[in-house]
Formats: sequence, structure tokens, C-alpha cells
Amino acid sequence: MIKLIAIVQCDITLERCPGFFCDRAFVNKTGGFEKIKYGKDARKLSISCGGCCGKAIHRKLSLLANRAKKFDNIEKDEILVKLASCITKDNYHGPKCPNLAYITKLIKRLGMKYSMDTHISKKAEERRASGAYVK
Ligand code: SF4
Ligand code: SF4
Repeated sequence: MIKLIAIVQCDITLERCPGFFCDRAFVNKTGGFEKIKYGKDARKLSISCGGCCGKAIHRKLSLLANRAKKFDNIEKDEILVKLASCITKDNYHGPKCPNLAYITKLIKRLGMKYSMDTHISKKAEERRASGAYVK
């Protein structure tokens, strides 16, 4: 069972976005959280990717796994890295991350679980379906 969810958000997008909808999707188990199994006690934290090219995510997540184990006995496989929709999808704030493959490679290298998407905007989905946003 997942005990800790680490949402990774696009550093550029965070210049404007307070992350409200990511948090809301986690609380309401909607969007990218709908199919994830986590209990009421599951914790959530949000971090930025650290900026392009995304390399900082490696050391941030490495330290997170270390701290979670050392202080709260949370195993690495009880942590889920959730890549926010502003990284994974073309959206209101701009195109999806051009370094997504690199970022997922770094997470895999750490041996951590990850999954895509957080808040899914209905309007953005419509725009992606119509071709106004890239899928
Ligand atoms: S997915 Fe949406 S709410 Fe979450 S950080 Fe990105 S832009 Fe903000
Ligand atoms: S690496 Fe991707 S997610 Fe991070 S700031 Fe650059 S575009 Fe955004």
C-alpha cells in the first residue's frame, strides 16, 4: 500500500500555479489519483522538478526516500512519485515537458514507482481531443 505520494510539478508552471488542483485531485481521488490505491492516512507532499532539464529530481527523490525510511520507516516501494499533469500533458499553462522521458528514466534509476497525471481538466481534455492542444 502506498503511504507517501510525492507529486512532482513543473518548476516553470509553479511560477504561476499554486498547485491547488493537484492537491484537490489527491484529496478527492480524481484524475490521475482515481486508480491509485492509497489509504486515508497516506501523506502527500509536492516538489518542483527543480527546473530544466529535470536532473535535480534525482537528488530530491533520493533524499526523500532516505528521509522517509530513516525517520518514518516508509520503504521506497511505499512511495509513489506522481508526475503532475503540467509535466505529462499539453495544458493551459503550456506544452508538456520536453524532458519527460529523461525524468522518468531518473526515477526508474532510483528504483522508485511512478505514475502519470494529477488533476485532469475537463476543458483541457476537450482541447486535446479537438487538436487545440497536443495529446
Ligand atoms: S497539474 Fe495543474 S494544479 Fe498541478 S501543479 Fe501543474 S498546473 Fe498546477
Ligand atoms: S524539466 Fe520539464 S517539468 Fe521541469 S521545468 Fe523543465 S519543462 Fe518543466
